[in-house]
Amino acid sequence: MSKTVLIAGASRGIGLEFAVQYAAEGWRVIACCRSPEQARGWLPADVDVQALDVTDPESVAALGWHLDDEPLDLLICNAGVFGPDTGSFAAPGDAAFDEVMHTNVLGPMRLIQVLAPSVAQAKGVIAVLSSKMGSIYETSGADALAYRCSKAASNMVVKAAANEYGPQGATVIALHPGWVRTEMGGPNALVGVSESVEGLRQVIADAGVDDNGCFLDYTGRNLSW
Ligand code: NDP
Repeated sequence: MSKTVLIAGASRGIGLEFAVQYAAEGWRVIACCRSPEQARGWLPADVDVQALDVTDPESVAALGWHLDDEPLDLLICNAGVFGPDTGSFAAPGDAAFDEVMHTNVLGPMRLIQVLAPSVAQAKGVIAVLSSKMGSIYETSGADALAYRCSKAASNMVVKAAANEYGPQGATVIALHPGWVRTEMGGPNALVGVSESVEGLRQVIADAGVDDNGCFLDYTGRNLSW
């Protein structure tokens, strides 16, 4: 029987590439996007495209009803925004801060709360797209403060979810995709989107119970929080 993956934020970039690669491998793919009609145009025809805005609790709850307690082998919390690129240490405005935190922190919190029981049922994996920019140990810059803080906070979401849902059978991991050539990463980024997603898929395939609550990059390297 084919496996099922649900990708939050699959309209472009890394999320779209996940949908394309898993569909090519024969998985049932539920690709969730803010503008599903538009995304249907470039997603493979056999992909199930659903509406989702991770900042909207009703939209996240509707996904739970769509899944209707079916086992879910893989949940990828990919939707993310970068927010203001301040260039140096500078507090963002309230609205920008709220958007970044709602999307990058509250988004995965809500998705995991609603969908983790389905993942636990399948003994599956919950993967949250984090970033080295959110690692307190690894970070060397002070720019994009809202983004950095949001990814540090989403790492805590991963740890807490690992504590809660690991004993129920799910493996919860944070992933750094590399610096990837997408709209967010920009044209000078070092890693192509297909290379990044191939690596991330391998890391997810290799993830076992011992990896619950870990922070890994697309090559499988363990990162420090
Ligand atoms: P992109 O900006 O290219 O794509 C972001 C995706 O998130 C789009 O599909 C976008 O949808 C979706 N999204 C944004 N807000 C919402 C929302 N409220 N609800 C649903 N979907 C939403 O980013 P990348 O593909 O580069 O990044 C994917 C993830 O990887 C992000 O979490 C990012 O932080 C992380 N990451 C990326 C790095 C990089 O170098 N690219 C490095 C480290 C981490 P829409 O089309 O509707 O805007």
